Amino acid sequence: MANWSAMTNLTELLQHNLSEAFEFSTIELAHKQGSADTTEKFLWKLRDGQLVESVLIPASPSLYGDQSDRHTLCVSTQVGCAYGCKFCASGLDGFKRDLEPSEIIDQVLATERWHKEQDGANDRLINNLVIMGMGEPLANFDNLMTALEILNAGWGANIGARKITISTSGLAPEIRRLAHQPRQYRLAISLHGATDEVRNRIMPLNKKYPLAELTAAAEEYQQAKNGKITLEYVLIAHVNDALDQTKPLADLAKRLRAKVNLIPYNHVDGLEWTRPDETTQDAFLLALIAHGTKVTLRREKGHDIDAACGQLRLRTEKELAGIAD
Ligand code: SAH
Ligand code: SF4
Repeated sequence: MANWSAMTNLTELLQHNLSEAFEFSTIELAHKQGSADTTEKFLWKLRDGQLVESVLIPASPSLYGDQSDRHTLCVSTQVGCAYGCKFCASGLDGFKRDLEPSEIIDQVLATERWHKEQDGANDRLINNLVIMGMGEPLANFDNLMTALEILNAGWGANIGARKITISTSGLAPEIRRLAHQPRQYRLAISLHGATDEVRNRIMPLNKKYPLAELTAAAEEYQQAKNGKITLEYVLIAHVNDALDQTKPLADLAKRLRAKVNLIPYNHVDGLEWTRPDETTQDAFLLALIAHGTKVTLRREKGHDIDAACGQLRLRTEKELAGIAD
């Protein structure tokens, strides 16, 4: 429901009074890419005109939850990002603001509403969430927890906690906080390097929370939740794709009982980084398998959720500014 007048169980007077007293907040679709049988990207305009994106991934075996017969939505938690990972589009313009809980929840509801209007889909379309859109989720901890509480609740969106994966670039104190809150959300850590030397090159946050500290926090989460952790590893040519990373990565995965998810880098306009060729990707994958690591390499284009990370917003903002390529 997107306005008070849709609440037909209320009297007209009550609807009117409510609409005078309370704003009915929703987000507005600014742009959409993709079709129902591929990955669909939604760019949302917030009340203050800021833009954030969500990505809907159609039914397929989900990488971040159990087998899905419905859909996974990748949601944003902030406008921009303060952490400035060198390869990422989301941080290019810096950090603008945190999303409110309602703006996180609205990404789910507005996506479902859009589909219902377009193709008569069920009220409830989304049963998996990955908190991997724009922003660093654990830097907006309280608002995210409030939003997830509602998305998880039976009276809310009823999305199982184990079907919600939070991705972090490595905020060690907040990983510990997550370990001690009551829900069983899954954790994905954007590692992208198995040594401090490699991580320091591409992730400024690693100077603040080096690998030893990040690993200790992740271990605390693992023990508290007996939770399955995913280590995300974006393969970037000549940065982190050398085979000498595979042994420390395998050791880390073993210590954390984690699986590793290799993601070939998606090019970002204006940035110098590229993805390694497929031979290099395969060699990296095989070396990890040889070390006994549980590992996946994501290659299908249509399901490439990380392609979204800030890129759609960036492009649209450029277009709006009249400097589109
Ligand atoms: N801030 C959080 C969540 C958002 S980013 C985090 O960093 O985990 C979601 C994922 O997309 C992260 O693993 C991030 O490193 C990755 N990513 C960012 N830019 C990418 C790109 N151009 N190609 C592939 N993955 C990218
Ligand atoms: Fe921020 Fe994550 Fe992008 Fe790093 S990878 S800049 S933490 S959104």
